[in-house]
Amino acid sequence: MKRSEMLKQAREQSGPWDVVIVGGGATGAGVAVDASSRGYSTLLLEQHDFGKGTSSRSTKLVHGGVRYLEQGNVSLVMEALRERGLLRQNAPHLVGELPFIVPSYAWWEGPFYGIGLKVYQMLSGKYGFGPSKLISREETIRHLPNVNTDGLTGGVVYYDGQFDDTRLLINLIATAAEHGATLLNYAKVTGLLKGADGIVHGLTWEDGESGASFTAQAKMVVNATGPFSDSVRRLSEPEAKPMISPSQGAHLVLDRSFLPGDTAIMVPHTSDGRLMFAIPWHGHTLVGTTDTPLSQAVLEPVPMEQEIEFMLETASLYLAKKPARADILSAFAGIRPLVKSGDGHNTAALSRDHSIHIDRSGLLSIAGGKWTTYRNMAEDAVDQAATLAGLEEKSCRTRTLPIHGHHADAGNFGPLAVYGSDAWAIRRIIAEKAELGEALDDELPIYAAEVVWAAREEMARTVEDALARRTRVLFLNARAAIRMAPRVASLLARELGCDAAWEADQVREFNAVAEGYLVRI
Ligand SMILES: Cc1cc2nc3c(=O)[nH]c(=O)nc-3n(C[C@H](O)[C@H](O)[C@H](O)COP(=O)(O)OP(=O)(O)OC[C@H]3O[C@@H](n4cnc5c(N)ncnc54)[C@H](O)[C@@H]3O)c2cc1C
Repeated sequence: MKRSEMLKQAREQSGPWDVVIVGGGATGAGVAVDASSRGYSTLLLEQHDFGKGTSSRSTKLVHGGVRYLEQGNVSLVMEALRERGLLRQNAPHLVGELPFIVPSYAWWEGPFYGIGLKVYQMLSGKYGFGPSKLISREETIRHLPNVNTDGLTGGVVYYDGQFDDTRLLINLIATAAEHGATLLNYAKVTGLLKGADGIVHGLTWEDGESGASFTAQAKMVVNATGPFSDSVRRLSEPEAKPMISPSQGAHLVLDRSFLPGDTAIMVPHTSDGRLMFAIPWHGHTLVGTTDTPLSQAVLEPVPMEQEIEFMLETASLYLAKKPARADILSAFAGIRPLVKSGDGHNTAALSRDHSIHIDRSGLLSIAGGKWTTYRNMAEDAVDQAATLAGLEEKSCRTRTLPIHGHHADAGNFGPLAVYGSDAWAIRRIIAEKAELGEALDDELPIYAAEVVWAAREEMARTVEDALARRTRVLFLNARAAIRMAPRVASLLARELGCDAAWEADQVREFNAVAEGYLVRI
């Protein structure tokens, strides 16, 4: 994928697009894959980089949601479990099965959670992952060598899915491009165009790199801007009542010694009534999350002090080696685009179902849901958009559509496994120039060739794109990311034809963002 070609296609389109999508997160990318694979002409515009919003900041689980079962929302759990199975089938290079243990510290906890998790397993039907079972104290310790053994009676094992959120996102963008969609990052939608009848028939957008403004005509505009949905709705209806209750969730990343092995911990009830996870992810330990209502969404949220303290305290109850502030390698926050109901005070209790809202102007907004259900959300949105716009009826193809990079044996590709079938192309880059096969830092196996690949084929335009969303360095270890930034800037400058001043600006801008991922001791 080349941004210059995408820009040319967007500028040269004659006549209206069938579907124009605002927002390049999981929801927008899913809609782009769905619409383009049905054969509709499709344009997607993202104001920053693909995945800059919530979709890079998830807990990285492809899951049915054990908690929604407890809330009695069986249909939501079944939908998500089906989607979990479809995602593993369509993107096996990115979605893996992960065992979780719920450690028990009272005699009743094992049978209690054991029954619930058996039901969870049964609801997945033919899309099932491994079977859940009760295990002894000794087995629990064997799988979780750093578990707190004080009062430990045993545990319950169950299985869910795990993924790399922005690797999936960039592969969805590539899938849509392969089906003819035009997708642009750094393209902010600035206005909606309405006809005399008051119906939206297009939009204005700005190319973030040149500053030039453009218009795009559309038979249907889909607003997929997650936590920012209301600000886009207000471009057409300034008085629109808000549909989103934003809620922040934060994560901490620690080194692997806090969770050696390949098994995650699930804590079903923290002191604030939420679930908490400790998960092995890219050779590190990911701990999260929280649920703090916000009055408005921002693009670069920062974990709050009380969130950091709460996660350290909760993790310390379950781990023998207890994490302290100095152990935090990176801390990041994301904003859930929960759909409003009632006063929106207790966001943990708000539904995680998705919701489609059609304004009087015909603007279709799709929000809520979760990463796991992006495909189903997209199917729903495109069905409705096609009906509203009177597009030729075409059925959805995404249930069995392989996602770009699809490769059943990618697990054997070592550090390049997340690239799936693209791993061969990255190896060719290294074969052509051996120095690009060098790791960029001693602490993380990220190669210079990955940055080159990101610039050439994945539309990475900045150091942040390369270190936060094409590779995951910033999310894994913020100090390592700061160390790597100058070399990444120089690799990108060579690929993108930029000068030394650009390099220096890039490093400065990246360091300012990375500051927000560091935790002061
Ligand atoms: C802490 C946390 C943990 C989570 N963990 C999980 C999990 O483990 N598993 C799971 O399934 N789900 C999880 N979720 C939910 C999941 O991450 C979200 O539901 C999903 O990422 C939302 O995607 P989205 O595309 O709707 O929003 P976003 O990813 O926020 O995308 C919206 C995009 O719109 C863009 N935009 C805004 N305004 C404009 C404009 N004017 N012009 C152009 N573009 C614009 C933004 O820049 C942004 O990139 C989690 C969420 C949070 C917050």
